[in-house]
Amino acid sequence: MTRKSLSLTIRQRLHLAVALLGLVWVGNTIVLAHSYLRTANALDDIRMVEQSIGNIFESSLFVRDYLAGYDDRAMLQWREAHRRLGQNLDRFRLSPLETEGERLIGRRLIDNHVILGSLFDRLVAGHRSGGRGSDEAEKLIEQSLLMRASIMIADAYKLSAINNAVIARERQTFVLMLVGAVVVSALVGLFIMAVNRRILSSLGILRQASERIGGQDFVTPITLAGGDEFTELARAMNAMSAEVARFYGELRESEERYLLLFERSPQPMWVYDEHSLKFLAVNHRAIEHYGFTHDEFDAMTLQDIRPAEDVPALLRTVFSAERGESVGEWRHRIKNGAIIDVAIHSVPIAYGGHHARIVLIQDITERKRAEADLAEGARLLEAQARQLKSANEELGQFVSVASHDLRGPLRMVTSYMKLLEQHLGDGLDDEGREFMGFARDGAKRMDRLILDLLEYSRIGHTIEESQSVDLAEIAAQAVADLHFVIAEAQGRVDIADLPRVFGHPNELGRLFHNLVGNALKYRSADHAPVVKIAAARNGRDWIVSVADNGIGIAPEYFEKIFGMFQRLHGHGQYEGTGIGLANCKKIIEHHDGRIWVDSRPGEGSTFFFTLPAGQDAAL
Ligand code: ADP
Repeated sequence: MTRKSLSLTIRQRLHLAVALLGLVWVGNTIVLAHSYLRTANALDDIRMVEQSIGNIFESSLFVRDYLAGYDDRAMLQWREAHRRLGQNLDRFRLSPLETEGERLIGRRLIDNHVILGSLFDRLVAGHRSGGRGSDEAEKLIEQSLLMRASIMIADAYKLSAINNAVIARERQTFVLMLVGAVVVSALVGLFIMAVNRRILSSLGILRQASERIGGQDFVTPITLAGGDEFTELARAMNAMSAEVARFYGELRESEERYLLLFERSPQPMWVYDEHSLKFLAVNHRAIEHYGFTHDEFDAMTLQDIRPAEDVPALLRTVFSAERGESVGEWRHRIKNGAIIDVAIHSVPIAYGGHHARIVLIQDITERKRAEADLAEGARLLEAQARQLKSANEELGQFVSVASHDLRGPLRMVTSYMKLLEQHLGDGLDDEGREFMGFARDGAKRMDRLILDLLEYSRIGHTIEESQSVDLAEIAAQAVADLHFVIAEAQGRVDIADLPRVFGHPNELGRLFHNLVGNALKYRSADHAPVVKIAAARNGRDWIVSVADNGIGIAPEYFEKIFGMFQRLHGHGQYEGTGIGLANCKKIIEHHDGRIWVDSRPGEGSTFFFTLPAGQDAAL
């Protein structure tokens, strides 16, 4: 077999063998049929020739019979024999005769039959016309008749020999064809056996290869020479092995990665069987955290690490239908008997043929404790806030009532002081009059103090509704109220564009009154006071400023002056109670704003406060 034929596929080879066999058998059949026909024709012709020879002999005899007595019966017998000979010769075919010489013999036989007929007719005619006829002529015709007959017999024998030769040749052909068919069939058989061997050997190699692959040998390649279907299959199986090897490699890597993640996880992890709840794998951290050994874990189920009262809930959860990924918080019992709070994250996985879940555990005991502490703290804080609020309210009420009630006796002290002064009249010396003046001043200051305290206690408790307020209007009103003070100090108050805000008009009026009042009060002795009120937008707020050119404030007092009763000057210098800026702070805080001061001693101070801008600002 050549390399080229090897590269044919099995299917092509089988098709070729079947086609070859078919061709041989069809060719054989045609040749044999043809040979059979030729043999049958030759046999026919031989039979015809043999009968013709008989007819010729017969007619020769009937010629002699006729000549012996010119008997009509002999004449009729001759004619009958001649007719039969004619019939035989008519059926005789010249076609099987292959050479021109052979065909000449055939034609001569037929011609001689005709000549025989005319010679005999001349014999009969001679006899009928001339009685017994001339013997000489008769003799000649007779000899001619007999000679022609002998020639015909010789020709007939030749034809018979020719046909016998045909038969012999056809027999040879038949034998040859038969041998040829047997040889070709044998060759085809051998060919098919070779193909079969190839199939069996290839199948054997492929079976071994399959066993190797089954044994996870993906490295040894299948080596099959040639270019048929088995080679293709081997190539495909090699590719498949390579792919499976790659896949296994990746699987192994991912398994190793998983193991690494599982083992090195900083959190406890385990895998448990969903049906038996037995631990299938436990990581290092879980062993450390729970205190059980690997063997102890192996002997336990999930139930064993739960407090007894939690087990029914556990069973309900783990045996509930179709659980996917799940999270939850549980309590676990560790080896030393302590109960810990844990957050669980579990995911279903297939593990060594088990329906299992992989679980990540986070100890949240501390967090839970902190949450509980926080909740307790919040509760306490809320209670304290409530207490503080009611204490504040009580204090407010107390201040309000006390201030109110204090003013009565104070008025009485003042009135009696006046009466006493009148009563003593001239009896009072200068010193006595000075003491009286101090006492009156003290009573007045106390009244002022009580009024300021009363006002402080009322801030934030006004019944007045919060509303849209034109700050310019409010400021102008405050300035108008301070008209006499401004005139007396020969000062000036400038009000720039001020916005509308949402707030309590009375409280805001009080705020401007206090700030402008202070600006005038703490004026410089060197020049007339000038106060400027302005506003600027800053994001969601308005920043309002009240600036003066007064005595200023040292930076260390910027915070302090907003405290209650905080004053930087004695009564001898400036009148006041130290409550005005505390009131301002309370008002601004009630309006969700901030208040602060910026100042340079000797140059003046600017008080700033913010108010939420826009309708949406909550007050
Ligand atoms: P008082 O009744 O004393 O004015 P305030 O609370 O209004 O009380 O002010 C507290 C202190 O802040 C004042 O005693 C004063 O020393 C200082 N102060 C307030 N406003 C000004 C100002 N515009 N210029 C300088 N000092 C001021």
